[in-house]
Amino acid sequence: MGNQEEWWRPLVEQHRLDDPLRARRLEDQYRRADKAREKREARRIDDVFSRAQIEMDACEFRAGSVRGLTEGECQALRVCYRCGEPLQGAKRKWCSRACEEAWWTNHAWAWASSAVRQRDDHTCVRCGRHRGDVIDPGYCRQDGHAWPCPDAERMGPTAYTWPHYRIGTRAVEIEVNHREPLVGRGYHAGCVHHQDGLEVLCHECHVEETNRQAAERRAAALRGQYGRRATDVQQLELVVG
Ligand SMILES: [Zn+2]
Ligand SMILES: [Zn+2]
Ligand SMILES: [Zn+2]
Ligand SMILES: [Zn+2]
Repeated sequence: MGNQEEWWRPLVEQHRLDDPLRARRLEDQYRRADKAREKREARRIDDVFSRAQIEMDACEFRAGSVRGLTEGECQALRVCYRCGEPLQGAKRKWCSRACEEAWWTNHAWAWASSAVRQRDDHTCVRCGRHRGDVIDPGYCRQDGHAWPCPDAERMGPTAYTWPHYRIGTRAVEIEVNHREPLVGRGYHAGCVHHQDGLEVLCHECHVEETNRQAAERRAAALRGQYGRRATDVQQLELVVG
């Protein structure tokens, strides 16, 4: 990441007066490390994990003073990876539990999705159905007729109703949708799990939305294909005409 040039400068300057040789050695060392990192980033850019990491290093949720720095660089500077405040005591990455939580509820799938379920109150944002709403009340195991079974009802809700008991109940299940489809980017930590890009959908609406997104991608791919063909034809006309 080029946007934090010479992040190590303060570490070098603190030795400049009392030990100039050491300062120069340190400077060389950091410059070599910077070059090595540039090469490494250029080489690994196609690996999804590295790409997600590089994206997180540049994430807008990080304070400007540390944005662009890697975890190792923040550790060397003894500052928090997210807010850039100095790290106290034996802390290695986060200044506080709150900072750590604020980060992971926007970058780790398990944290982000459970936070979004709570934010959207377990309610589908499309159809408004709530988690656990009954879709199909099921039927009686004994007689096969729709629940509630009259026999079981006669016995009262607290009585032992065997062999009349309810099976086949179906209730609304709640899932979390990425508004911008993941397409190949996995569920490992990354900026794709920012909470403002997530929403709660019921299973049925989620299936519909996933199909719609896939159809949209197919259509875009087709447009690209025919678009190229159209320009080929135009060029042919230029050559012939
Ligand atoms: Zn912090
Ligand atoms: Zn729904
Ligand atoms: Zn029954
Ligand atoms: Zn991010």
